[in-house]
Amino acid sequence: KDPLTGAYNRDYLQERLSAEIAFARRHGTALSVVMFDLDHFKQVNDTYGHPAGDVVLAAVCAAVRASIRLEDVLARYGGEEFLVVVRAVPLQGAEALAERLRCRIEKLRIATGAHSVRITASFGCASLVCCAEMSAAHLVGTADRRLFAAKQRGRNCVVAED
Ligand code: GH3
Ligand code: MG
Ligand code: MG
Repeated sequence: KDPLTGAYNRDYLQERLSAEIAFARRHGTALSVVMFDLDHFKQVNDTYGHPAGDVVLAAVCAAVRASIRLEDVLARYGGEEFLVVVRAVPLQGAEALAERLRCRIEKLRIATGAHSVRITASFGCASLVCCAEMSAAHLVGTADRRLFAAKQRGRNCVVAED
């Protein structure tokens, strides 16, 4: 796990995602991923300092963890970019989860020393298409593309289609 946020690291994510894809294919169950990236996070570091940025990252992850199921996997994909693997949930459900996370993050008031910091995040959702051969890379790539679209749409929003 990543020590700062308690999220799983990328190595674990790769292993787990491959296993979840194999399971979903074999049993014909749904599998979705929700990717999110904090909005204008560089500005948080620049305004309040890097240690405050670290506090914000940890607080966002704690809030997300409290909003997902025990069987869901929260992983740190990059600096301030995260992925949630949601088992047995189709695209519509993943979109609803992302919207719930988005609202929760938006409402946070994160105490960092003297300041109360607010942050938003942008989301991209993707699902395994039943019976189609879809690799972990393709699934994550699709979520990443939609996350990029969410940034382009003005941030603090969820995109679940191309
Ligand atoms: P956008 O809305 O387009 O995502 O803008 P952004 O500023 O969030 O994106 P950008 O990729 O420019 O900046 C990401 C920042 O995240 C830059 C980097 O310093 C910061 N960052 C990455 N990892 C950490 C970390 O562990 N701690 C802190 N404090 N900052 C981090
Ligand atoms: Mg960002
Ligand atoms: Mg980023």
